[in-house]
Amino acid sequence: MNLLLIDDDTVDRMNTRRALVKSGLDMRITEASSAEKGLEYHQSQIFDIILLDYQLPTMTGLDLLKLFNQSKQDSMAVVMLSNEDDEKLAIQCIETGAQDFIQKHEVTTTRLMRSIMHAKERYKIERQLRQTQDQLRIMAEKDALTGLANRYVFEAELSSAIPRARRNKQFLALLMLDLDNFKDINDTMGHGAGDQLLIEVARRLQGPVRGGDLLCRLGGDEFAVLVHNLDDQTELAPLTKRILEELSKPFQLEGVEINISASIGVASFPDCALDSVQLMKCADIAMYRSKEKGRNQAHYYSSAVHEEIHERIELERDLRGAVRKKEFVLYYQPQIDCKSETVVSAEALIRWQHPTRGLIGPLEFIPLAEDIGVINEIGDWVLETVCKQFQSWLERSPALIDQLSLAINISALQLSGKGFVARVSEILVAYKIKPEWLEFEVTESALIKASGHSAETLRGLSALGIKLALDDFGTGYSSLSQLQSHPFSVLKIDKTFVQSIKDDGDARYLRAINALAKTLGIQTVVEGVETDAQKKWCLELKFNRMQGYFFARPVGAVEVEALLSAGSNRIESSR
Ligand code: C2E
Ligand code: CA
Ligand code: CA
Repeated sequence: MNLLLIDDDTVDRMNTRRALVKSGLDMRITEASSAEKGLEYHQSQIFDIILLDYQLPTMTGLDLLKLFNQSKQDSMAVVMLSNEDDEKLAIQCIETGAQDFIQKHEVTTTRLMRSIMHAKERYKIERQLRQTQDQLRIMAEKDALTGLANRYVFEAELSSAIPRARRNKQFLALLMLDLDNFKDINDTMGHGAGDQLLIEVARRLQGPVRGGDLLCRLGGDEFAVLVHNLDDQTELAPLTKRILEELSKPFQLEGVEINISASIGVASFPDCALDSVQLMKCADIAMYRSKEKGRNQAHYYSSAVHEEIHERIELERDLRGAVRKKEFVLYYQPQIDCKSETVVSAEALIRWQHPTRGLIGPLEFIPLAEDIGVINEIGDWVLETVCKQFQSWLERSPALIDQLSLAINISALQLSGKGFVARVSEILVAYKIKPEWLEFEVTESALIKASGHSAETLRGLSALGIKLALDDFGTGYSSLSQLQSHPFSVLKIDKTFVQSIKDDGDARYLRAINALAKTLGIQTVVEGVETDAQKKWCLELKFNRMQGYFFARPVGAVEVEALLSAGSNRIESSR
């Protein structure tokens, strides 16, 4: 035990020392004969216990104790020694931080030892309490995972920053940042990896954010930056740019390299809103805009955007309702065989029968359905409806089996889910549909976005016997590698190719794609055939199938049935 004894009275000091030594405890005693000496020792060494005389020449023991308290050191317990029997003084000393108060005439070995042990014990408890309090404060203010300030601090800081900015006539900007597709990483790689990613994101965000600004994690994958002292708004664009750049660098998660991005919304005081709640709402709306425009970007709030987003939110609500109420209908667009020029297949295309807005096309709600996580339910409905429809057609005209297959569009998100293959076989069995009668269309862009499990799903579907078609082929992604890595047996050549054939008959691209498909032994469907001239090109280049307004627009089930049962399936051009 390291003990400091501060007393100006030599005799008293000797008495105390003797009593201590008699205890037989292992201790090192340092003696100080003045307050100043005591302070000096206290600053240069660490003591377990300090015995402090109350009557010192230059100051009282209480004053010295206050000086001790000011220093950062907290490894000491103090016992005050006094000549006077003064209850009030004793209480004052204890309140200032002394653990005990002993009258000098009481000083015996036993009394001192008991006091020292109690003092140490009490000191230990007090310190633990202090540490717990500190921890609690940190926990209340800091996000446990990333160590950034949390939502609570953020909101408090924001509400005090606005009046300050108003007084100082300064701008204040709020950045809301949300990671894109964080859920996918959590789902596919597990929560441990997700946490790792959030920690790394928090670390990277600290780079671009200036010292005086506040970076927080609001929760989940949402972060916010409060930018103070803005001289002008133009400082914001470089900041968001740096943040996006920082996050676009690859991340290493459990030995796997992954790429992420974020969507940012920016709103400022006093331009967008005058109070903290509104300002947060504005930044949120701007962030929503970034998501909607394709993610990995930043948008600044505007009231026009507000209006649009409001509409989108409404559509989103309606769509959730539509999924529940199954407000969808399938149209079918025939595909024509190039050799026989008869209908051999039809693609199912979904529409939404909106109660007030009328029929809404898939381009307007499928991406939204993917965003808000209802695409799987919609896809399931499509699959089941197609099979049910197919079954009823077959029952009425069994001859169809020989010539008809139905094509269904599948979203990337359906492929990345785990139970998809099992669900497909279940539906096939339920409606007695053979897998080879179906063709699943997956777009190239969807495959790019698709996650790890999709490849397995594609293999599973192919193993079931379902034909796989690569949709919108040639629209700018790495088409060849898709063909190589997945079991596609059909190529749907995007409509831009047949439609871009010039008057001079330059069909180089179509020709090249055709040659490629033939070499790989893959079937071809040319989409978007609108004119007789385009049809002739398809026949001349010997593609397998054609599809387009020239033959038929997508039509309801009743009309397709009429087309199919017209006998030869021969379809006359609508022009
Ligand atoms: P897609 O798979 O490329 O479907 C072909 C689209 O081209 C259809 O638009 C069709 O009406 C249109 N089209 C057909 N022939 C012609 C033509 O000669 N000229 C022109 N200009 N267009 C033609 P639609 O029905 O609006 O569907 C748009 C997209 O929505 C589809 O593109 C597909 O990616 C998606 N989609 C449709 N139904 C579903 C579905 O059930 N599930 C999923 N996940 N996506 C679907
Ligand atoms: Ca398609
Ligand atoms: Ca297509």
